[in-house]
Amino acid sequence: MQVRAEPLDLELATPFRISRGVQRVARNLLLEVAHDGLIGQGEAAPDGGGYYGEKRETMLAALPYLIERLGDDPLCLEDITAGMDQALHHGHGALKAALDMALHDLVGKLLGQPVYRFLGLNRARTPVSSYTIAIDTPEAMAAKARAAVDYPILKVKVGMPDDLANLRAIREVSRATLRVDANAAWTAKEAIRCIDALAEYDIEFVEQPVAADDLDGLRLVREHTRVPIFADESCVTPSDIARVAGRVDGINIKLAKCGGLRNAVKMVHAAHALDLEVMLGCMIGSSLSIAAAAHLSPLVEYADLDGGLLLADDPFHGVRFDRGKLVLPDGPGLGVAQRDLPRRSPSARRAEKAEKIPKET
Ligand code: MG
Repeated sequence: MQVRAEPLDLELATPFRISRGVQRVARNLLLEVAHDGLIGQGEAAPDGGGYYGEKRETMLAALPYLIERLGDDPLCLEDITAGMDQALHHGHGALKAALDMALHDLVGKLLGQPVYRFLGLNRARTPVSSYTIAIDTPEAMAAKARAAVDYPILKVKVGMPDDLANLRAIREVSRATLRVDANAAWTAKEAIRCIDALAEYDIEFVEQPVAADDLDGLRLVREHTRVPIFADESCVTPSDIARVAGRVDGINIKLAKCGGLRNAVKMVHAAHALDLEVMLGCMIGSSLSIAAAAHLSPLVEYADLDGGLLLADDPFHGVRFDRGKLVLPDGPGLGVAQRDLPRRSPSARRAEKAEKIPKET
């Protein structure tokens, strides 16, 4: 198998602010695995703030260690996953996920079947994805909620002093189901107080109220609030499931955290066995990485797979949304195709936009 990597710079339509920072461009990596005349594609979409320790430079440096473990049979996915986790024991989830999704794309193309089919899943059972409203002024967040009228579930980023005003402004213009995500912003005490106040706006669940390693805090918040609590930053790989079980109501699985579809499937089954609900989430990425997660989505209760919707230009297409419900592509592999967009860096694009502005003479 031959592997090729190239940078994939994705500009966001508007800056994406969460409680720990703001992201304007996703510096992702496109990987292609070639075998037997076919090419599988995958996308490494690390967390924008480097929270999980991955950047483009770390991914390019680590890639050769994973390529060594690929072997020559792309269908030996279990061996390859285990080999990648042995080669790089901790972290590198986004990079491993990119290779894993490229292999799934390749295997689907070799078999002539969409990924969801060879995973044995029913495309009619996909969940409705939420659409994320990032942190901004109350007026701007309300305007985004109003514009997202096609999405019946909104995920609102919280963890700022203006949370209540933000939620109130959104509720005034939207009857959507609202979930909130604090991205580890609060102490357990703050979380209990804030969630009690936010509950007035009819919240479906709260994601990651406290720091990732504050497992007792998660339990405390769950015991003292009436809104279900989901773990995201506290639940990264399969070995984290048992640690959060009994402390939260559900978990957010992301391919870029756990290293790909196979580890994600293991996490879904472990979570369900331990009475946890499951959401499939994403980082900021194109429809390529979104499609990989979407193919697994018939297995889970909730989805937050809006990464491609937040981009200025999505370079891939394939996954569609019907009133938020994920519609899986039916082509072989991941079923996505590259759009005919000229590849330009964000700075080149800004320069191009500036050129288009008529100059006064
Ligand atoms: Mg989250």
